[in-house]
Amino acid sequence: MTRRQLDPASDPVLVIATHNPGKLREIEALVGPHGYEAVSAGALGLPEPVEDGTTFIENARIKALAAARGAGKPALADDSGLAVDALHGAPGIFSARWAGSEKDFTTAIGRVRDELDWRGAGQGAAARFICALTLAWPDGHCEDFEGVAHGTLTFPARGERGFGYDPVFVPTGETRTYAEIDPAEKHAISHRAEAFRQLESACLG
Ligand code: IMP
Repeated sequence: MTRRQLDPASDPVLVIATHNPGKLREIEALVGPHGYEAVSAGALGLPEPVEDGTTFIENARIKALAAARGAGKPALADDSGLAVDALHGAPGIFSARWAGSEKDFTTAIGRVRDELDWRGAGQGAAARFICALTLAWPDGHCEDFEGVAHGTLTFPARGERGFGYDPVFVPTGETRTYAEIDPAEKHAISHRAEAFRQLESACLG
């Protein structure tokens, strides 16, 4: 499959379709060494589109296309979350929303546990983190990538590092949760790292 490439020599600006400074920094660190200057959609004053897709890729495309069309330049967006097999993939694209407007992941994790308990599952339930990345151009062209990290869930939550659902996720081959692992180690094995590696080799030159 031939992927459309970016060319930092003709335009080094890459729009990052996020209003989240943490995500911007993480993506900046990846694209910077390839000669790109990351500028967030927020800094350009672009509005946040409604994420009404039904998959991670659809939501990443909605964000990337809105930013690319608004800025008139290529834009990169990511969308990620936790999918639990016994919950038919929930919370999935609703991972952030399960934490409510307060972004309270103790509540979100409690809901995952309650829903698993109710089904007689729980400890050791199979789950995966998914990260979709879309690079979009103003003419509507999109290149999509998806990284997955497989693992199991453990309760109660363990570890102080990371964010979101990290304290209950044990990646395959590990005994520690994502929140107990050194962040550099997590970044090397995570779903996000896997999606970024695909993007780098396919489109960043
Ligand atoms: P997004 O910002 O719409 O992509 O939402 C991603 C949500 O998925 C976050 O708020 C977390 O709840 C969850 N999530 C995604 N990646 C991770 C991770 O690496 N660790 C823990 N939670 C994650």
